[in-house]
Amino acid sequence: MKRLKIILGKILLCFLLLSMLSCEVSTKNPDTLMDPDAYLYTSLDSTLYRISPYSASVTPVCPDPLCEHDNAQCPFWQICLARMETVGNCLYYLRESGGWGEYYKKLCRYDLVSGEYTVLYAPKEGSMTELFATEEALYFNFAKPDGEGWNTFDVCRYDLSRGKIRVLNDEPMNSAQWAYAAENGRIFWLDLRSNMYYSTDADYGDRRDGERGFSPDATRENYQFDLENLGLNQETLVYEYRMNRIDRTTGEVVTVFDRVSYIPIIYGDRIIYAKADAPTYLGLVYDEMLGEWVEDYDRWGGKYYICELDGSGEQLLCDFGAISFTIPQITNLSYEKNGVGDWIALWAQHYAPVDESNSGKITYDRSALLLINIITGEIKEATIEKKS
Ligand SMILES: [Zn+2]
Repeated sequence: MKRLKIILGKILLCFLLLSMLSCEVSTKNPDTLMDPDAYLYTSLDSTLYRISPYSASVTPVCPDPLCEHDNAQCPFWQICLARMETVGNCLYYLRESGGWGEYYKKLCRYDLVSGEYTVLYAPKEGSMTELFATEEALYFNFAKPDGEGWNTFDVCRYDLSRGKIRVLNDEPMNSAQWAYAAENGRIFWLDLRSNMYYSTDADYGDRRDGERGFSPDATRENYQFDLENLGLNQETLVYEYRMNRIDRTTGEVVTVFDRVSYIPIIYGDRIIYAKADAPTYLGLVYDEMLGEWVEDYDRWGGKYYICELDGSGEQLLCDFGAISFTIPQITNLSYEKNGVGDWIALWAQHYAPVDESNSGKITYDRSALLLINIITGEIKEATIEKKS
């Protein structure tokens, strides 16, 4: 269950700021603004791309038209997208993988308005992992080889106003500590080896053990959303889940709905999900291993639904059966959010007939980034600008 909560933190991705500001954000034209909240981000070919749901375009964040984005000169090469953070107009991130057993070598800031790129810290020895940001500070783990093939870890705090780094723990630790949330002046941590949750003050003091793990991205008001694994459906071969809503004060658990297939998205004040519907038949695909054509299905049903946070008002959002895409899964697309304004984004697989003979034979010819409007159900495919 704890593991699931981590997955929730990573995959039940929603957009906390938008939930508060959704009206403002959806009415301005984000394409004219270097506003980090107006875009989704993803990494392609080891560099950072921004996705504009409005123009349905995917472009490199690196502003240099001559840059190939494939070496250390590119400010976003080998970025750790999963732990990228946004504070004000700036992106903060770790990048450039170290050698065997190492994490990332550079702590970086990129100002989206001025275009200024700064390496805040690049230790000669050791590497960094588990970046987390509050409005005041960056937290990360400094990892140092212990000489026996492992690392020791120090929790570090980079003060954003003073630009100073401090080690917060007394003795190096034998496991990484992931700061996953900040709330009411407390920082919430997960020890990545023991899987223990705890909280501290902003300077890593006043430790309180036994905190309940939660994901800020899956929290609305005083409710934490959580998934209960109901196991593999032997007929559809899809894992099914029950979605619960937990009162964070009383611990009371209420089922929002049963039999969700795959991980839902909590976005703003809505939940978007696939149900354990009957699989949608797609066609015959050639199985290289078997050397024959076999029937293939969209096992997740091919439909997305949307409902209120309490499970009421369920509506069919879109049906992929009408178009030539299949959703293999909701992919962890874009660090901590899955949508902008009225749009969510997800990766899909495009398929097409192999010929015009109505043989029912299909081939998967490319992966596609789809943008789905959660009000109208409109689906559009983004154009990805790539260096040839
Ligand atoms: Zn570049």
